[in-house]
Amino acid sequence: MNENQHQAPRRISILGSTGSIGCNTLDVMAHLGGRDAFEVPAITGMGNIDLLAKQARQTGAAFAVTADPARYQDLKAALLGTGIEAGAGPAALIEAGDRDTDLLMAGIVGIAGLAPTLAAVSRGADIALANKECLVSAGELFTAAIAKGGGKLLPVDSEHNAIFQVLEEHQRHAVERIILTASGGPFRDFTREQMAAVTPEIAAAHPNWSMGLKISIDSASMFNKALEMIEARHLFGMRPEQIEVIVHPQSIIHSMVGYTDGSVLAQLGAPDMRHAIGYAIAYPRRASLPVERLDFAKLSRLDFYAPDETRFPALALARTAMQRGGLQGAALNGAKECALEAFIAGRTGFLDIADIVAAVMDKLNDGREAASIDDVYAADREARAVAETLLGQPV
Ligand code: NDP
Ligand code: MG
Repeated sequence: MNENQHQAPRRISILGSTGSIGCNTLDVMAHLGGRDAFEVPAITGMGNIDLLAKQARQTGAAFAVTADPARYQDLKAALLGTGIEAGAGPAALIEAGDRDTDLLMAGIVGIAGLAPTLAAVSRGADIALANKECLVSAGELFTAAIAKGGGKLLPVDSEHNAIFQVLEEHQRHAVERIILTASGGPFRDFTREQMAAVTPEIAAAHPNWSMGLKISIDSASMFNKALEMIEARHLFGMRPEQIEVIVHPQSIIHSMVGYTDGSVLAQLGAPDMRHAIGYAIAYPRRASLPVERLDFAKLSRLDFYAPDETRFPALALARTAMQRGGLQGAALNGAKECALEAFIAGRTGFLDIADIVAAVMDKLNDGREAASIDDVYAADREARAVAETLLGQPV
């Protein structure tokens, strides 16, 4: 990289800028030089139009998009006189991913993030990947598209970012296992009887990490860790049996890689997503980041224990999905998104989420492979439709 390339503003678009990942990304970019250091070709949100318009003005974004077509006029009005282009709906979202950038932050929640992220992947952009559903639902196709596009894939999910940091490229042949750490969430010590009665508000109160609503509830059911197991398989080319999960309540070790010589390399840090986001933005250099420094004298102890798969069946479901392969990842994710939305809306109980996912996976277990992204969308739709019929019924 020559001197001029260092000094030219980097172009970073942010999908899901109004969310938890998006706001943290903008915070890191402001810290690393703001408008002097970065240009923002596109940002996207959905319902939070005021925040989207404010972010567009602050960053000088060229294009602001809401995923909700019904909010187009609101966004246009909020951007009046700024010269910032407004867009709305699925095609505009894909255009936001397609606009030329050096790096795209994929921070939309759910399978909704797949199409605009793939647009950026196809034109060869480097991708900072927070959205885990891309890999869970469309793993092989997504990694093949990255290889074809030629961009780098930089994991932002904190566990995968940690593994990326300690997975020595020249020692890949000697990787024995990947150890994903899990905080255990707010129901770490709950019985199933206690979990049966929880509300979305209680489930969303994560003890260590501040995140969006859906991932917070997924952390409580450990579906977040289930998604992360599948994500790790595709990101790092691991066999299912090479992926372990260990509960580590302090969330200081973000994950580990075990090598054939018995060495285990870990990445540690305060639980703050700006760390992984800043790492991806500054890659391959390391930037100075405004995150808390660990004080080991104050930490004093780090605890670990095996997850209880009877209380948290999501982990076994992830292994089943990996072993069955094909479209089972799409089935798991589609059913989980549907059941989670129903739980948030008060239409089903917390423990029903895993029961519904298991039933949908069994129903869709026909050995079909994902030949194209359309197959993934079809499996996602089918999984949601089957999950919908199971809501409110004994599974
Ligand atoms: P949030 O719910 O906080 O934000 C989601 C973003 O996506 C918002 O900008 C939201 O818009 C937008 N959005 C919501 N639904 C849609 C849709 N159907 N179509 C297009 N855009 C939509 O989520 P997080 O930031 O917590 O998570 C984003 C992704 O990153 C998830 O996949 C999550 O699993 C992953 N992740 C998040 C971490 C975190 O710390 N938050 C950590 C690791 C991974 P609006 O708010 O305007 O409605
Ligand atoms: Mg994570």
